[in-house]
Amino acid sequence: MPFQSFDLKPEITAGINACGYTAPTPIQRQTLPSALAGRDILGLAQTGTGKTAAFLLPILQRLQSGPRGRVRALIVAPTRELAEQINDSARELGRQTKLRTVTIYGGVGKGGQLQQLRQGAEIVIACPGRLLDHLDAKAMDLSRVEMLVLDEADQMFDMGFLPAIRRIMKYLPAERQNMLFSATMPQDIRGLANAILRDPVTVQIAHQKPAETVAQALFPVAKHLKPSLLLELMQRHDTGGRTLIFTRTKHGAKGLAKKLEKAGHSAAALQGNLSQNRRREVMDSFRTGKVRVLVATDIAARGIDVADISHVINFDMPETPEAYVHRIGRTGRAERSGQAFSFASRDEQDQVRAIERLLGKRLEQQQLDGFDYSAPVPQESESPTRPVRSGARPQSRPSARSGAGGPSSGRPRAPRSRAASSAASTFGLSPQRKANNNAHNANRAPRRTPTGNR
Ligand code: AMP
Repeated sequence: MPFQSFDLKPEITAGINACGYTAPTPIQRQTLPSALAGRDILGLAQTGTGKTAAFLLPILQRLQSGPRGRVRALIVAPTRELAEQINDSARELGRQTKLRTVTIYGGVGKGGQLQQLRQGAEIVIACPGRLLDHLDAKAMDLSRVEMLVLDEADQMFDMGFLPAIRRIMKYLPAERQNMLFSATMPQDIRGLANAILRDPVTVQIAHQKPAETVAQALFPVAKHLKPSLLLELMQRHDTGGRTLIFTRTKHGAKGLAKKLEKAGHSAAALQGNLSQNRRREVMDSFRTGKVRVLVATDIAARGIDVADISHVINFDMPETPEAYVHRIGRTGRAERSGQAFSFASRDEQDQVRAIERLLGKRLEQQQLDGFDYSAPVPQESESPTRPVRSGARPQSRPSARSGAGGPSSGRPRAPRSRAASSAASTFGLSPQRKANNNAHNANRAPRRTPTGNR
């Protein structure tokens, strides 16, 4: 089913061509016929599936006819990054429509947003908090909105925006087309969907499985050794691509980015405490390649849409299996291959098990040869990072002992999978070394040790 079969207006087809889209993605194929016919949509799809164009194209098509100079479509998104991302796509796809867009979010002045609204934007892309500020101040009018999109509804729920969303609804006319997209469908989101959508068409993309193009590997490691394992890993690989590292806390993201910088990597942290300008700078640097390693929290990373992320590293395991799938979906996009490495300490085994349940398979364990998994907790309270051995090459034997949470050397390692062998090449193992490893593993019983010490 090509884009031509949707009978889109020429201005919109021109936008699709300008974006370089040659064929619709599965979510677009499923959504477009119903959405273009004016039906409500319940979309179960995560970032990376092409869901943005799935809701933008019907908006552009409808708004291309009818009045200008008033808000006719409202898209609500959880983060500024995602709002900007949607705005970029809307501008790109709608470049020949002359429709105007405005983004509304906190952390920046209200004046510019109000001025753009006064100039007559037809499409508003907003985060809930600042949108409500404007609405409560009667600074904007949504009474003639014809189309509403709630994007990443589960994330908005996680961030506590549900009451704000319910209040926003009161400013909208009853008669409108609604589309709600969410990567997961917890009970509260289902409740929201029931309250907002009318007889929706449900579209679903196999959202809970990571792309086949992502090779996954698990590195069991004691918590205090995570920074040094990361530095060692980073030192051994240089793929020319970009690396996205996830930490649990903002503080952790900042500290880790500093450590990486100190070790000579071009790294930056993306976390909620940054000013809007600084966030934009960081994102731009990552996008242009000036910064090759970005350390982010889950929330800050929402909306990051950067091609060519070759590695995703879960420095801290994600809280939920869905977040894991979401994180690693940042790599291996559009048929490119990517690698996802997860560092799991002893107290993160529950998360590992939950992820394995969701994936329906065990994560392949990896051990970085030559890395000392038994190094003790350093005496200083700060900075557990050990100096990185310069020019360290893998040694010919795996670590003799296992540290807390580290791989158990007494156990055989699982045979190398695609993830494992691609990880091996990433880490600069010589072909001879790889051959030795394979022989070594082939001689052992193929017993898996999926979660290290339990
Ligand atoms: P999304 O899931 O909306 O964040 O989109 C993920 C990526 O896929 C973005 O970089 C889009 O520009 C891209 N994309 C969306 N639709 C298509 C398409 N039909 N063909 C190729 N790339 C697309």
